[in-house]
Amino acid sequence: MDTEIHALSTIINSNTKTCVLSIVVPVYNEVGNLESLHEELVAVLSHLNVSYEIIFIDDGSTDGSFEILQQIRTKDTHVILIQFRRNFGQTAAFAAGFDYASGELIVTLDADGQNNPKDIPLLIEKMDSEDCDLVLGWRMNRQEPLIRRILSSIANRIISRSTNVYVHDRGCSLKLFKKDLAKSIRLYGQLHRYLPELATMIGARVAEVPTIDRKRRSGKSKYGSISRTPRVVLDLMTIFFFLIYSTSPMRLFGGVALVGFFTGSVISGGLVLAKIYNGIINGWIGFHTYEIGNRPLFLLGIFLVMLSVQFFMMGLIGEMIVRVYYEAGNKPIYHVRQVIK
Ligand code: UDP
Ligand code: MG
Repeated sequence: MDTEIHALSTIINSNTKTCVLSIVVPVYNEVGNLESLHEELVAVLSHLNVSYEIIFIDDGSTDGSFEILQQIRTKDTHVILIQFRRNFGQTAAFAAGFDYASGELIVTLDADGQNNPKDIPLLIEKMDSEDCDLVLGWRMNRQEPLIRRILSSIANRIISRSTNVYVHDRGCSLKLFKKDLAKSIRLYGQLHRYLPELATMIGARVAEVPTIDRKRRSGKSKYGSISRTPRVVLDLMTIFFFLIYSTSPMRLFGGVALVGFFTGSVISGGLVLAKIYNGIINGWIGFHTYEIGNRPLFLLGIFLVMLSVQFFMMGLIGEMIVRVYYEAGNKPIYHVRQVIK
């Protein structure tokens, strides 16, 4: 374990009075898994020889998980318990964990025993050797059903392609964050699946470490393989939009508006010219009998021009919303890694 201790002390100036490591564990009906997970965590963390805290977020469990957590808490003062009023979802649980964590480094993992706490030192070593802000677990031997592995691998590739953030495994909860990063990521919806993207968006360095995947110890997965797909797709679209156009929606909507306006004008303008041309050749009768109002092409032209106005307005409204978003919330449009004076 000496190497890990060394790694920790180089990442942070390990002052034993302040908390160094925060472990964040979302819990939703995991009654059969909590005690063994806690034991495993303590076995690993006590060897690291740094101050630590274990934050369990009870996300509205109804199976007595909270009572078990309270028992664990009375025996171990490292444990911090956060109880939600109802089930708010895993993303919210992570967000609460980040808000309450006081460690310099923050580790997230599942409560069901799928992640092995023994991998935590490996993440820390990786963070130290590559000087990055986020280390992701990359499950080598996924224990889940084949259909789920296939779906998740397809989703992963699509997400990598569309966001240009190439990581192998977004679904592994075992992750290590530097405090600054975890605290500057705003989470909502199902966005915990997109932490690598959210992190890269603010310029964080991301690395991966192969980890061991285990079977869920007891209880059931909270997500179906198929039922999560539409949600993931919708979130992907949001993320894609945010990654590229969040600060300048006009570039997306205005672009579409310009293309629509140009094509629409060419089509309807062409038809009008044809009518005039017919008038010049065949006189007033020719002009009059050359019908363009009932031509599908003319309708398409008008439709495109009107659509372009809509898109243009959407771009403008988007720009206004972006301004409200950044100014009202005092949100930074940049993220500083460090300032050297
Ligand atoms: N979880 C949670 N709130 C929820 C759903 C899940 O806090 O609404 C927790 C759950 O207890 C577990 C982790 O999030 O610790 C991951 O959930 P699960 O193991 O069911 O997901 P899977 O590993 O199957 O993707
Ligand atoms: Mg799990």
